[in-house]
Amino acid sequence: MSEFRDLRAVVTGGASGIGRATADLLAERGAKVAVLDLDPSGVREPLIPVRADVADDGQVRAAVAEAAGRLGGIDILVNNAGIGAVGTIEDHTDEQWHQVLDINVLGIVRTTRAALPYLRESAHAAIVNTCSIAATAGLPQRALYSASKGAVHSLTLAMAADHVREGIRVNCVNPGTADTPWVARLLASADDPEAERAALNARQPLGRLVSAEEVAAAIVYLAGPSAASVTGTTLAVDGGMAGLRLRPPGK
Ligand code: NAD
Repeated sequence: MSEFRDLRAVVTGGASGIGRATADLLAERGAKVAVLDLDPSGVREPLIPVRADVADDGQVRAAVAEAAGRLGGIDILVNNAGIGAVGTIEDHTDEQWHQVLDINVLGIVRTTRAALPYLRESAHAAIVNTCSIAATAGLPQRALYSASKGAVHSLTLAMAADHVREGIRVNCVNPGTADTPWVARLLASADDPEAERAALNARQPLGRLVSAEEVAAAIVYLAGPSAASVTGTTLAVDGGMAGLRLRPPGK
């Protein structure tokens, strides 16, 4: 498919999970793709690996400039890098709050700030942020993570307003619990991983976790020419978790 031919994309956190599936799908559809990640050692051609910590402004500026140089510009930015945090408002130190907000929120600020000059040069400029169901639903044990994703949601709307007249669209996806290495790590640390997986499956009305490829398909739609009239929206890929209210099974 050539929908993305001649388009150049940067995907942060593109070495694993949702980001990796997004980078692969963009490349499959014809885009040239650079993966900006803390550890891009597993990134293979045709993807272009660029190492950077989104918590470090100097690294981000250098990495975005390198990506733009190797791609010949930037049309699409997928702000996907993020980390989790499990606990209530009592459970994290100030340092932990600063760290998660620094990566999940300011990471987007730094990457977008560095990419905007290139996006302004593009005739097809799109930004997609990876937000979360945690931005719109109260989940137990996710105070810090939810605060960070709530900020990503609001930031997406503000960015969409600020840049619409420059021809830059900005949207976000809200995945439910997705079957990625991140969730595998969460399950591995649970007392009873099988019971934890069953509980996560049951929490989503479709009865299963979302796949990384399903989230990638939504990101790629929002990033692509088919979504030329779409900006300032949130696309939930959450197995029905945000919108549905089911009765208990069999009732
Ligand atoms: P993952 O852990 O599989 O992949 C995350 C990638 O981001 C890794 O390659 C990691 O190296 C990179 N990364 C982490 N910190 C970074 C930093 N400081 N600088 C640069 N790169 C960094 O995770 P995933 O499940 O694919 O999650 C990706 C995004 O999706 C995150 O923003 C997450 O909040 C969001 N999300 C995930 C789920 C889920 O259930 N998996 C649900 C909703 C939202």
